[in-house]
Amino acid sequence: MPATTGSEKPGLIGLTRDELAEALASIGVPRHQLRMRVGQLWHWLYVRGVSEFSAMFNVSKDLRARLAESFDISRPQIVEEQISSDGTRKWLFRFPSRGAGRPVEIETVYIPEEGRGTLCISSQVGCTLNCSFCHTGTQKLVRNLTAGEILAQLLIARDRLGDFPGHDTPAGAIVPVTERKVTNIVMMGMGEPLYNFDEVKKALLIASDGDGLSLSKRRITLSTSGVVPEIYRTGDEIGVMLAISLHATNDELRDELVPINRKYPLAELLKACREYPGLSNARRITFEYVMLKGVNDSLVDARDLVRLLKGIPAKINLIPFNPWPGSSYECSDWEQIEKFADFINQAGYASPIRTPRGRDILAACGQLKSESERLKKTDRLALEAMMIAGHGGE
Ligand code: SAH
Ligand code: SF4
Repeated sequence: MPATTGSEKPGLIGLTRDELAEALASIGVPRHQLRMRVGQLWHWLYVRGVSEFSAMFNVSKDLRARLAESFDISRPQIVEEQISSDGTRKWLFRFPSRGAGRPVEIETVYIPEEGRGTLCISSQVGCTLNCSFCHTGTQKLVRNLTAGEILAQLLIARDRLGDFPGHDTPAGAIVPVTERKVTNIVMMGMGEPLYNFDEVKKALLIASDGDGLSLSKRRITLSTSGVVPEIYRTGDEIGVMLAISLHATNDELRDELVPINRKYPLAELLKACREYPGLSNARRITFEYVMLKGVNDSLVDARDLVRLLKGIPAKINLIPFNPWPGSSYECSDWEQIEKFADFINQAGYASPIRTPRGRDILAACGQLKSESERLKKTDRLALEAMMIAGHGGE
């Protein structure tokens, strides 16, 4: 069982190589050894997935002891783990307080599918945006997650899935990508990842680092409500796949559903999409479109959607709206969703309708127990809606 956090020591997970070198220098590792030591740590943390310094058997005992005195590499606490009959797993993790703040809890969901397994990761606790159909949008931002906390969701999921090489595996061995349980990650949990750009960038560059976690950038999808300047930065500085929460095909409606549209209207958003680097038929942008009855689900909307995306290598994900207490929307009728999907298919777009997974455990999610600082049941329902909505990617 991995060690769990509770420590005040600075964490090493989520640091860049340079930051890691600085941390090692601060405890007296000689300059000429830094590169080698950083390489060793990187391997243990991200290839082998260890959460205790004592497991790093090619690091001298003395250094292991000094590392353990000064730094933390333990996992967050698992408050709850649920496994659905269809194999979907959901965890409630607790991260310790930062500064004056209180501990926070977030959920991470794993969705196994034929030939791949997708982990849906959160970037913030709460959200500052106010999309009218999203329950997270009715809550205040509690705080940004750090790069370490974003990565911890991946590391601990892989622990629980047995997705790291065992202790008896020879040094240097890695789990071949084809045999991995977590093959894809989507930044589609709680929060707006592009409002936490620096930490998300650090986490995703570590997740895709070829000497460590080695997830291909084509298997990482970042979903945004449309923070245009940071979409350009994502293309230039991170290079992962993009998903856009579009949800409407004209500014008037999008202003209401996704209010950040007032700041970055559709024309600017779609320009940023058109200019996203590396797009091709094999590397398309995913456009998420929540199906709201009588609001955005007519065949005129479907036609406008096709027109709007013309020329952009795109796929469209139709998301059945997940109602939450107090929301003023209803999910479109299934028949209408199918008609809408047919129209889009005929226009040449793949438009999968997201089928909810892990219904049994998600339905029970309001019953998750934890000792303190519980997310309110309604918070969970909102997160559940997003998680169900959110499992996209290649
Ligand atoms: N903040 C980011 C990523 C998280 S939301 C974003 O907005 O893109 C993941 C997806 O779930 C988004 O497309 C979001 O619009 C959608 N979503 C949120 N609440 C939903 C609900 N109640 N029903 C269906 N989809 C929802
Ligand atoms: Fe925030 Fe995304 Fe919800 Fe909008 S849809 S409120 S951006 S989490």
